[in-house]
Amino acid sequence: MPEPTPDRRRALAVAAVDAAVHASGAWLDLSVRQAVADAVLDAIDNPPGSTREQLPADLLALLPPRSYLSTACETARLLEGAAIAHPDRATELRAWRDRMHQRCRLSHKFTGRPCACPCHTTTEENPR
Ligand SMILES: [Zn+2]
Ligand SMILES: [Zn+2]
Repeated sequence: MPEPTPDRRRALAVAAVDAAVHASGAWLDLSVRQAVADAVLDAIDNPPGSTREQLPADLLALLPPRSYLSTACETARLLEGAAIAHPDRATELRAWRDRMHQRCRLSHKFTGRPCACPCHTTTEENPR
C-alpha cells in the first residue's frame, strides 16, 4: 500500500481522534482535535531524542536562543485551558492533557532544544 499523502494522513489522524473523543462522550473544538492529531503524528514521526532532522551544530550555534514548547505540551496547555472553561468535561480533558504531556518528544526536531514545559521537571513547587 502506498504511503498516504500528508493531507490524507492528517485527515486520517483527525478522524481517529474524532472517533476516540466521540466514543468517550466528550466534545472538543476542531482546533484542539487537530492539535491532538498533529501532536500524535509528530510523536510517531519524530520519537523522543531523534536527531534525524537536526541542523548542523555550526548553524545551530548561530541561532538566537529561544525557549521551545513542543506541539504535544502546547496542546496539553490548550486542553488544560479547555478543562477550566468546561468544568463538566474537565475529567476527560485532563486525561487527554496528561496523554499529550506524555507524548512530548522532549527536544525540538530541528534544533534539539529541550522542551520548556514544566511537566518535564515536576516538583513540589512546580506542578503540571
Ligand atoms: Zn508538557
Ligand atoms: Zn514537553
